[in-house]
Amino acid sequence: MIDLHTHSSCSDGILPPDAVVALAAKSGVDCLALTDHDTVDGLDLACSAAREHGIQLIPGIELSMNWNNRGIHVLGLNIDKKSSALQSVISKNLKFRVERAKKIALKLSKVGIKDAYQGAQLAAKGRMITRTHFARYLIEQKYAKNFSDVFKRYMVKGKPGYVHCEWVSLAEGLDAIIAAGGIAAIAHPLRYKCSATLLRRLCAEFKSLGGRALEVSWGGASPAMVQSASALAERYDLMVSKGSDFHDPENSWIKLGKMPDIATHLKPIWTSWTDSNY
Ligand code: AMP
Ligand code: MN
Ligand code: MN
Ligand code: MN
Repeated sequence: MIDLHTHSSCSDGILPPDAVVALAAKSGVDCLALTDHDTVDGLDLACSAAREHGIQLIPGIELSMNWNNRGIHVLGLNIDKKSSALQSVISKNLKFRVERAKKIALKLSKVGIKDAYQGAQLAAKGRMITRTHFARYLIEQKYAKNFSDVFKRYMVKGKPGYVHCEWVSLAEGLDAIIAAGGIAAIAHPLRYKCSATLLRRLCAEFKSLGGRALEVSWGGASPAMVQSASALAERYDLMVSKGSDFHDPENSWIKLGKMPDIATHLKPIWTSWTDSNY
């Protein structure tokens, strides 16, 4: 089984990198990419765990990028984590995360929610702060009952805990992935609330900037989503990727290695590399 999109506690996942690998191996995954948001910090541990368990580890990242005034997630797969171009975009995004977290907490305090920065920081155990960590704090403080409720009411555009993104641009992010020897794949293309026209523009621009793949199947994607993402991949002659977007072993509908099947005539990204870049 192949799973090219997973998160550890180095970003907003629950399990440490070696535990993600152990659970993946136990779940029957034999080719795994760890793709934490804006960091490669988990890759060393994941790689040694993968050796121990006899599975292939593809070093990856899920980079946040700004395109057309919105945040887009692009997977960098089989990257060289030591690349200085990659390190440079990572540090820009991490600096933005700290600034954004402070602004989010300030906005939440204006609607009466106290200590959100400290709360998110505790949830993140001192590592990078993501919206997921604010969401966990808000759920724990009973401001919302679950993730979909907390995102809808607080953490998305137009809501009190939302702050506009200033991630690196699509061009800068793609350049970095390419400089690091990786293949760039747009993650979960149907989650961006883009019209069909805008999504096609994204794919066209992505491709012209050196992007080579589209994630067409992800944990929780419906058959209709997989079909429209696959049609986009064909239209723009992009390779296809698939991954669970695993974050939390307690989540009963997103499991390591589990995502809808993809059509056999598409060009899978995993046949494009002969060996892991590790
Ligand atoms: P950030 O990178 O800090 O903007 O946080 C984005 C993360 O929030 C995503 O990677 C997801 O893990 C999580 N997220 C975004 N929207 C939702 C949602 N509706 N429900 C649950 N988690 C979400
Ligand atoms: Mn996430
Ligand atoms: Mn994502
Ligand atoms: Mn993800």
